[in-house]
Amino acid sequence: MGMELLLDFIAPRTCGACREDLPRLIQGPLCGACLSSVRMLSERLCARCGAPHAKREDLCRRCRGRLFAVDAIRAAFSYRAPVRELLHSFKYRGRLDAGRALADWMAGRFRRHRELAGARAIIPVPLHPRRLRERGFNQAELLAAAVSRASRLPCLPGLVRTRRTRAQWGLSRDSRLKNLEGAFEWQGPPPPDSVLLIDDVCTSGGTLEACGLALQAAGAREIRAFVLARD
Ligand SMILES: [Zn+2]
Ligand SMILES: [Zn+2]
Repeated sequence: MGMELLLDFIAPRTCGACREDLPRLIQGPLCGACLSSVRMLSERLCARCGAPHAKREDLCRRCRGRLFAVDAIRAAFSYRAPVRELLHSFKYRGRLDAGRALADWMAGRFRRHRELAGARAIIPVPLHPRRLRERGFNQAELLAAAVSRASRLPCLPGLVRTRRTRAQWGLSRDSRLKNLEGAFEWQGPPPPDSVLLIDDVCTSGGTLEACGLALQAAGAREIRAFVLARD
């Protein structure tokens, strides 16, 4: 903290999204223009995966007629600028102030999602140990800690990433699922019946589903997920 204040004094802070210099009066990581362009997901959402979809049906095309380990996914924000840029500042440039702001915003929006009520514990999506060493922190853990404080639900360790997976982008949906198969495992005493997974971003939902399958195998029955942002 002391170091952060010192750095702030020497070098002007920049906006975590557009990287313009921040006026000293601004306390958060975003400039006024970026802050006012933060978007929630407000369109019609799929009841299962939480993705915006235009149809009248409850479920989107990808969720209809299929069974999933994860019963519901909800996101605090849309995965667009400036939330996307802010998350990148946090994950890849180590801007902890950006991470803290995102975690607080996410935790503040948790209660709006009634579909997520009733979980007994929070479980962050783990990073592979090697990725964790490279980055120095797991962004999902920091988000989970904030949601845990706001909801007073315990945050449980126990879900581990046993296999390093290829980067997901560029893979088809089926190869994504194959890529993630068996990548997670629950280790430790059985998880509670109803759990809430936490991650930073959800795109295809494949990572969450692979975590859900591991939790299901360990005995959890109601598995839902809350993510910072989704496509
Ligand atoms: Zn900005
Ligand atoms: Zn869906």
